[in-house]
Amino acid sequence: MAGILVIAEAAGTGVTRESLETASLAMRLAAAMQQPVCGALLGAGDLANAAAQFQCGFSALLLVESPQLATYVAQQYVAAVQSLIAKVQPAVVLFPHTAKSRDWAPRLAAKIGSGLVLDCVNVTVEQEGVTASKPMYGGGVLAKLVVHGDPALVSVRAGIFECAQLSSGGAVERMELPQLAAHPGIQHLESISIEGAGGQRLKDAKTIISGGRGIGEKDNWHFIVEAAAALGAAVGCSRPVADAGWVSSSSQVGLSGALVAPDIYIAVGISGAIQHLAGISSAKTVIAINNDPEADIFKRADYGVVDDFKEVLPAFVERIKQLRS
Ligand SMILES: Cc1cc2nc3c(=O)[nH]c(=O)nc-3n(C[C@H](O)[C@H](O)[C@H](O)COP(=O)(O)OP(=O)(O)OC[C@H]3O[C@@H](n4cnc5c(N)ncnc54)[C@H](O)[C@@H]3O)c2cc1C
Repeated sequence: MAGILVIAEAAGTGVTRESLETASLAMRLAAAMQQPVCGALLGAGDLANAAAQFQCGFSALLLVESPQLATYVAQQYVAAVQSLIAKVQPAVVLFPHTAKSRDWAPRLAAKIGSGLVLDCVNVTVEQEGVTASKPMYGGGVLAKLVVHGDPALVSVRAGIFECAQLSSGGAVERMELPQLAAHPGIQHLESISIEGAGGQRLKDAKTIISGGRGIGEKDNWHFIVEAAAALGAAVGCSRPVADAGWVSSSSQVGLSGALVAPDIYIAVGISGAIQHLAGISSAKTVIAINNDPEADIFKRADYGVVDDFKEVLPAFVERIKQLRS
């Protein structure tokens, strides 16, 4: 087995930013291994537009278009990726670390007996073999893990790499998905689109405003929503807020929530626990609003306001409106 297979995730008629970031790591790794990179896209509809967005100079781009992929079912993805592996025979398979890949990749690894490392921030080739690096214990250590198996399976954390540049490559080829038996244990009932309250995916958002337990109660959450609307920001939250049901758990940022990489992250009433900070390690500028000057969030913040959020946010929103009018 040789070379790298990089698998993109489709979003609407295009591909996700995380897919392009993963392609960027694949190209870097390929240069070190002096081996080719093959791209792959899975989806239900016509993937032509997504394929145009995912032209990153691959030796070939494989499209698996099948109505069976219209609704996400792990077994379908496992079958699709398994057939891609059988065709490409790669030494390494890279894919974005997402809710879907967290589901299908371990099943695939178990099925084909390959090593899998999830949520990596780098992949290198060392003397011992393909080596994946990933933060562990809430970001307290960076583990380097040698990935055994043919191929090595690795999911890549969002926000670590720049997006790969568009560049022409080899042929685009369409592949058939093997027809699967129906899975009697799985019945698709409903699909619910998960978005931040600002109508944006947290992972794509350039600006995020997150509220924590310091917001006090659900009735105060409108302070965050109004600030997000004024800024055009997505809404996030800390775990206690999601646990209390003030907002959907899809808005949770952190170790057990979304890992985000915005240009600006505004943390309101959030203390800065290591598990929350693990989710914003790729944020470029962090602004904290907290009434406790000793709060740990200020160690991570680039800018801070020590005050009650109820004083700060309305004035902040008013100022933004003035500047925009
Ligand atoms: C395995 C594990 C995984 C976890 N995963 C996550 C995760 O993914 N995401 C996550 O967030 N947490 C996670 N946690 C929980 C984490 O440890 C913290 O408990 C949590 O992040 C604290 O949330 P908080 O900052 O909102 O609340 P608190 O720690 O209670 O902080 C509230 C802050 O609000 C400030 N405040 C109070 N009133 C005001 C006011 N009027 N104006 C301004 N500021 C005010 C206070 O000074 C305080 O700093 C995890 C924990 C474990 C053990």
